[in-house]
Amino acid sequence: MIVFNEPTYVEKGIGYITEAILKNRRLNGDGIFTAKCTEWFEKRMGSKALLTTSCTHALEMAALLADIKPGDEVIMPSFTFVSTADAFVLRGARVKFVDIRKDTMNIDESLIEQAITEKTKAIVPVHYAGVGCEMDTIMDIARRNHCVVIEDAAQGMMGTYKGRYLGTIGDMGTYSFHETKNYTMGEGGLALINRREYMHRSEVIREKGTNRAQFFRGEIDKYSWVDVGSSYLPSEMNAAYLLPQLEIAEEINSKRLKLWDIYYGSLKGLEEAGRIELPAVPKECRHNGHMFYLKAKDMEERTSLIQYLWENKIKAVFHYVPLHSSIAGQKYGEFVGEDNHTTKESERLLRLPMYYALKEEEAGYVAEKVKEFYAGTL
Ligand SMILES: *Cc1c(COP(=O)(O)O)cnc(C)c1O
Repeated sequence: MIVFNEPTYVEKGIGYITEAILKNRRLNGDGIFTAKCTEWFEKRMGSKALLTTSCTHALEMAALLADIKPGDEVIMPSFTFVSTADAFVLRGARVKFVDIRKDTMNIDESLIEQAITEKTKAIVPVHYAGVGCEMDTIMDIARRNHCVVIEDAAQGMMGTYKGRYLGTIGDMGTYSFHETKNYTMGEGGLALINRREYMHRSEVIREKGTNRAQFFRGEIDKYSWVDVGSSYLPSEMNAAYLLPQLEIAEEINSKRLKLWDIYYGSLKGLEEAGRIELPAVPKECRHNGHMFYLKAKDMEERTSLIQYLWENKIKAVFHYVPLHSSIAGQKYGEFVGEDNHTTKESERLLRLPMYYALKEEEAGYVAEKVKEFYAGTL
């Protein structure tokens, strides 16, 4: 059986967790391992980094920092995970869904401006499959319209746009370390704070609205409740699991890109023959092999292909049902403009197994079975 996902595991993780428990004897947030992870991100990304309990929570922090209030509007694609919208709806915002580009499944930057009103407070691009959105255009629209940009880079760690890391381009960015993502701590995430004016408050919000972080740095002599906030600190055990993956981040990234290339190279012929479509990576972007998807002709063909792969002991899955067609999506937001691609493309999309422990031969075998399916449908 080739499963769809296996959480990234590197052997040192066990040693580090043992060290946190038996040597450091400190398991709550912001201990030695959290500090090491944070340092890794800050050095590499050049932004302030805060380890969180999830990407959902990092997005909630971003919504608080952007001071989202009831009645504000937030623009995002409908083809995304619920948390992208939830974090802002929790603050009382209305969501304005904009159509996606057919080639990358990312928000169509040319449709954002028409969704902007005087109530628009933020734009939330989602870097689907670790492929960057057209950030220069999005930043330009945001600056001209006085909006904040929060990058949902949950899938985007190590991916770049014009040489800059995804998540570091907007005012804030978020990563996920859920077990389905490239780097994982089971459940976890990261908030990247790219604007100086948010830096102090981001620490306060993450620490239940207290200035405890400043206290631990010796900047103040007692800490107290100074603002709203919540508990967004992951435990040291989670950080200890993540750290060794960061230490070999390039190796993990290369392995995934290798698997991605095997799929792509092997299925290119089917695309050229007009049977399927493969993901596009714009020349400004370097992706991270987060996901390999293909697009079947329609939902019916996709269902048959999933079934065929399943019969061959391969687990392939579809992805998001567009948020604007969900119960909460209809209650808390609406689609602006035409849905030319969101629904249609999401119904065709199929994801193949992709994870660090997947063997090259296994990826080759999966691709062969996809080709076999199409040979049989001629
Ligand atoms: C995984 C994911 C999230 C949520 O991440 P969690 O860490 O599970 O909260 C949010 N947005 C996108 C686009 C994701 O892929």
